[in-house]
Amino acid sequence: MALNTQRKLVLLGATGSIGRSTIDIVEQAPQSFSIEAVAGGRDVDALAELAIRVGARFAAIRDEKLYGALKSALSGSKVEPAAGAKAVVEAALHPADIVVGAISGAAGVEPTYAALAEGRTIALANKECLVCAGGPFMRKVAEMKATILPLDSEHDALWQALGGADAKSVEKLIITASGGPFRTWSAAQIAAATREQALRHPNWSMGQKITIDSASMMNKGLELIEAHHLFGVPADRLDVLVHPQSIVHGLVAFADGSVTASLYSPDMRVPIAHCLAWPDRLKTNARRLDLAEIATLTFEKPDLARFPALGLAMDALRQGGAMPTVLNAANEIAVAAFLAGEVAFPEIARIVGEACERAARDNLAREPASIEEALAVDHIVRESSRTSLALKARSGMVTVQ
Ligand code: NDP
Ligand code: MG
Repeated sequence: MALNTQRKLVLLGATGSIGRSTIDIVEQAPQSFSIEAVAGGRDVDALAELAIRVGARFAAIRDEKLYGALKSALSGSKVEPAAGAKAVVEAALHPADIVVGAISGAAGVEPTYAALAEGRTIALANKECLVCAGGPFMRKVAEMKATILPLDSEHDALWQALGGADAKSVEKLIITASGGPFRTWSAAQIAAATREQALRHPNWSMGQKITIDSASMMNKGLELIEAHHLFGVPADRLDVLVHPQSIVHGLVAFADGSVTASLYSPDMRVPIAHCLAWPDRLKTNARRLDLAEIATLTFEKPDLARFPALGLAMDALRQGGAMPTVLNAANEIAVAAFLAGEVAFPEIARIVGEACERAARDNLAREPASIEEALAVDHIVRESSRTSLALKARSGMVTVQ
């Protein structure tokens, strides 16, 4: 089942988990897609190998120092190498029908926004773009009459469950959370969690940053903020349900009492295929859903006492302005520190909470008028979170497992 015309894609974050799943979908439907340009962060060998394999014309690596390595890895191929932040933006601006935004973290903001500012259609996995700069992003979408296709599974599920209804008119949009590896753990057990335990997600295989966010449930908080921007729905009409089987991804509750839901196996290739083919459908070899085999689907309320990061994100969403920008920046610093073995797991939420308090005190949380303003707040918060971490480390206040 091929699409009528071949769609040209740009793949930002090609070497990552979403990048590779996207390439898998493209390789299953070579008549339907071509990949024109790819971009990655530091993994030159993987980027060069993928660029040659998919027949891209242009490959950009973010780290400027890696230009020579990329050039030699691509020598003899038809792929043009480039390096640095501008090169990633150049990749994003390559002529394409869809730009897949799959860079991890706020590092994706500039290239993804650049593509949007040219009116490109974005299939967006990189939720941190909307958490860091949701206001500027959505204003640009309206100005350019551009389209963001929600690639994150919960948002893809909401989009499918809406079935064309206006999200603003529904009673509730509900996203589900697996609960992560610590769903059944006590607060004391979570406090002693190691990096390896936090990286062992029960249902999904993903990049490290989002896997830690899933363990802290910050990921679900980021997704509520993402849903708010994508669907234009306020905080009090957005909800989270913990659903350990990760089969139902999103539910829409309508005013007449009916609820629609979207179900699929926890395999990101399903929402990727849906976004890339929309409004058509592709045939993929993604795992089929066998409900009789699964037999039981369970749901429970999230526990904000054991997962304070989710509560912090809900507060940031309610406060609005640049508070989500602050939350995201501090979280990226905190997750990197946890992954580097510098802080214990509960410090992640503590660092984020303190950054939000500092921002409120310093009057930093006004709505960013532009992408530059959002990135300036992001920068300030990263610096102050790093300083505060270093101070704590020096005074022995940070506990490490
Ligand atoms: P990965 O860590 O697996 O991949 C991240 C990608 O971004 C890599 O290609 C990496 O390159 C690249 N990258 C990192 N920094 C930069 C930079 N500064 N400039 C250009 N490229 C950069 O992450 P995931 O694929 O798991 O996640 C990507 C995004 O999608 C995240 O925002 C995540 O929240 C979201 N998402 C992921 C899901 C999943 O199942 N994985 C599900 C839903 C959303 P390199 O390899 O060289 O470091
Ligand atoms: Mg998700």
